[in-house]
Amino acid sequence: TEELIRTSEKLSVAGQLAAGIAHEIRNPLTAIKGFLKLLESELGEKKHYLQIVQSEIQRIELILSELLVLAKPQATKFVPKEMRLLLTHVTALLETHGNLHNIQIITEIEPDLPLVECDENGLKQVFINFLKNAMEAMPNGGEIRIEAKKNGHDSIVIRFIDQGCGIPEEQLRKIGQPFFTTKEKGTGLGFMVSKKIIEDHGGTIHITSRVNEGTTIEVTLPIHIQTTPLPPKHVSTL
Ligand code: ADP
Ligand code: MG
Repeated sequence: TEELIRTSEKLSVAGQLAAGIAHEIRNPLTAIKGFLKLLESELGEKKHYLQIVQSEIQRIELILSELLVLAKPQATKFVPKEMRLLLTHVTALLETHGNLHNIQIITEIEPDLPLVECDENGLKQVFINFLKNAMEAMPNGGEIRIEAKKNGHDSIVIRFIDQGCGIPEEQLRKIGQPFFTTKEKGTGLGFMVSKKIIEDHGGTIHITSRVNEGTTIEVTLPIHIQTTPLPPKHVSTL
């Protein structure tokens, strides 16, 4: 337990540092983008160089935006929210993208699901990350199921079940390590950030996967947040 607490403290210091650096890099980047725009008309036939620079800047911005999520706002407010609303909102955001890729999102949310004390934006970010990963794992389309149900009296379980490529055993334990990605354009930060947010809620994440069949990401969230975070109950597979 001692060890667990120390690891999670270390993580949060590293997280704060990463977010701090991300924030500092964003400002000069904004200036660079502005001046590049001004240069655009003067570049003539070398204009295509600028496009490369701009797309590389976009990539830096993507990485920064993922790292910035690690910065805990001064006082994160945990407010009781309906998971149905959060999930519906997030699903709506990604529906068009899904349709374009032949992906159907099916939600099955238990009626009378209790409210969850949460940081709404944090949880939305997590759900978006998991849905995007699921979609990216299904290049030929398919179905994503989202299940949400009660789990005893004091927590709920949300599952994201995809029919994607799956995750080989030897990669499973690397997921959630900063910058671990198998994607050409991946950042390898989505899972780490999601894990951090769920742990801030006193929750846990569990992955089960079968290569070529699909992956299930299971999130367990307590209904009431503890003011002093407890160490995780189980050692997660992450
Ligand atoms: P990124 O999506 O930028 O690669 P993530 O942290 O979100 O970074 O995910 C890390 C890696 O975990 C991915 O590159 C992928 O190999 C694996 N992964 C995550 N979710 C899934 C999923 N639903 N199906 C298959 N592989 C997944
Ligand atoms: Mg991702």
